[in-house]
Amino acid sequence: MAHKQSLSSAETVELFGRYVIPNYRRYPVNLVRGENCYVWDSEGTRYLDFFCGWGCNLLGHCPPRVVQAVQQQVATLVHVPNTWHTELQGRWAQMLSQRSFGGQAFFCNSGTEANEAAIKLARLHAPKDKYKIITFEGGFHGRTLGSTTATAQPKYHEGLGPLVAGFVYAPFDDLEAVAERIDSETCALMIEPIQGEGGVRIPSREFLAGLRQLADEHELLLIFDEVQTGCGRTGQWFAYQHFDVTPDVITLSKAICGGLAGGAMLTTREIAPSLRPGMHACTFGGNAIAACAGIATLETIEQDHLLEHAQQLSAQFRTRLETLQATCPLIREVRLVGLMIGIELTINGGPVVEACLQRQLLVNCTHDTVIRLLPPMTLTPQQVDQGCDVLAAALQSVSA
Ligand SMILES: *Cc1c(COP(=O)(O)O)cnc(C)c1O
Repeated sequence: MAHKQSLSSAETVELFGRYVIPNYRRYPVNLVRGENCYVWDSEGTRYLDFFCGWGCNLLGHCPPRVVQAVQQQVATLVHVPNTWHTELQGRWAQMLSQRSFGGQAFFCNSGTEANEAAIKLARLHAPKDKYKIITFEGGFHGRTLGSTTATAQPKYHEGLGPLVAGFVYAPFDDLEAVAERIDSETCALMIEPIQGEGGVRIPSREFLAGLRQLADEHELLLIFDEVQTGCGRTGQWFAYQHFDVTPDVITLSKAICGGLAGGAMLTTREIAPSLRPGMHACTFGGNAIAACAGIATLETIEQDHLLEHAQQLSAQFRTRLETLQATCPLIREVRLVGLMIGIELTINGGPVVEACLQRQLLVNCTHDTVIRLLPPMTLTPQQVDQGCDVLAAALQSVSA
């Protein structure tokens, strides 16, 4: 039986005040239940969720196939160490491989862990004197120290030094600047193919193709952090598939287990053996619950034709938001690929997020001025319209 929940939002906020470390800015709302594109708070208010679990709930809240798979698995086998085999982990790896570039998988529990695995792989794969990794301004790779250092944004570094040695930062979408930074000690280029936290920034096709070429010329690993873009978010399985550029490594988390915790790093069969036994591990990585949820997630996307549906929803969002932009001077630019949507404003986005919340729509603001939507692929066209109407009203209210 689920733990009985009876506290109001105000009481829950007070409980947190006493017992939970205040490292997050949180809205004073206690959420108690989710179903597909909606969540409910303890006062019974229903919210339309256009920022589903930081993008993790790509299939909406409590997707039925994932719920059913997990309910059965949790009573069968939850976790065994990675000193054994489970069919589920093998089948999950096979499914990810068949939908990407045919390589092999390492499993972990989060995005930052997937990136740590990629950083280690890059250094292990390279000759001993090569260890530098070039990452990109405005990028985001996670919160462990390696990934924090890889994140080329000073605001995430304040007070944390000394950081991990060997990271070199380059401007995003500037190929010449990357070429200038490569030297005899460089072993990898690591980039989000579309920057998420950095404000939904989409690079040119030439830039990513150019990175591939530089990587080939200098024998560098090309690592794509697809933690946010991966697993269908952009209307393709992986964002790299939009650009016709195949990386050597991709890192995944967020949506890959349909809302449960899970992470993975994929690489080619040639490179994979460099992550040799004893050099890396993750206790809970690829556990049976994550694996069955991961498999059910991929099956749901396929069986419900959600990639195609996401492309249709994306076109609808584009039309709606560009129409809104034409009459709303607060909107500077609309950027989207699939259901990864950034609306760049001329003002700070905080008040717009608040105005949406008051109208029962959940959205996010990133990089100060960008309203970011990471809605579920399971939205109906009507819900897209409803949400866009609310967003229009919210923008109207802050400009008045
Ligand atoms: C969210 C995110 C991460 C970090 O994922 P965690 O699961 O929070 O560690 C890394 N890279 C990108 C691109 C992300 O969006």
